[in-house]
Amino acid sequence: MNDLKEYKKKRDFMKTGEPRAKVKKGKNTDLIYVIQKHKATNLHYDLRLELNGVLKSWAVPKGPSTDPSQKKLAVQTEDHPIDYADFEGVIPEGEYGAGAVIVWDKGTYRNLKHDISLEEAYGKGKLEIFIEGVKLKGGYVLLRTGKKGDSDRRWLFIKIKDRYADARRNPVETEPNSVISNKKIEDLEET
Ligand code: MN
Repeated sequence: MNDLKEYKKKRDFMKTGEPRAKVKKGKNTDLIYVIQKHKATNLHYDLRLELNGVLKSWAVPKGPSTDPSQKKLAVQTEDHPIDYADFEGVIPEGEYGAGAVIVWDKGTYRNLKHDISLEEAYGKGKLEIFIEGVKLKGGYVLLRTGKKGDSDRRWLFIKIKDRYADARRNPVETEPNSVISNKKIEDLEET
């Protein structure tokens, strides 16, 4: 289930500054949540959630929402190593995913369900989680829309209706800076 082979195959670590493939061992209580803003050929937001020693990953083309009526497409991508959560930098031209990356939001997350583990919920294609980030907070659902075992990697990322839901907020537009360096993605491109 956790597989960094695809991650490794896509990258030349002599050329890119991205972290090397390494599965993290040992149990963690605080699971990492991170969203990286990535200005590749198409600008997108990479949502990553720690599960079983790797970061499960989805590319969200339009970014996350705090509005429960907004269903955001999230296309699953290859598992990433845990160390990737702190990666900011420019992936060189010609390399996979070339372009600037900033840590747009970061924090922890936990399972909202008590009757099913995160691993099982992930396998069934429906994660109900509580996110504690800087910009995103509260309940979110990740729902696989493709069939099980299918090559369709589409999921939906949706805010749950709770006290943190807010249809008027739009952090993708109003809070563009990195939560670790305070840089904008354009700042990295210029250097
Ligand atoms: Mn990306």
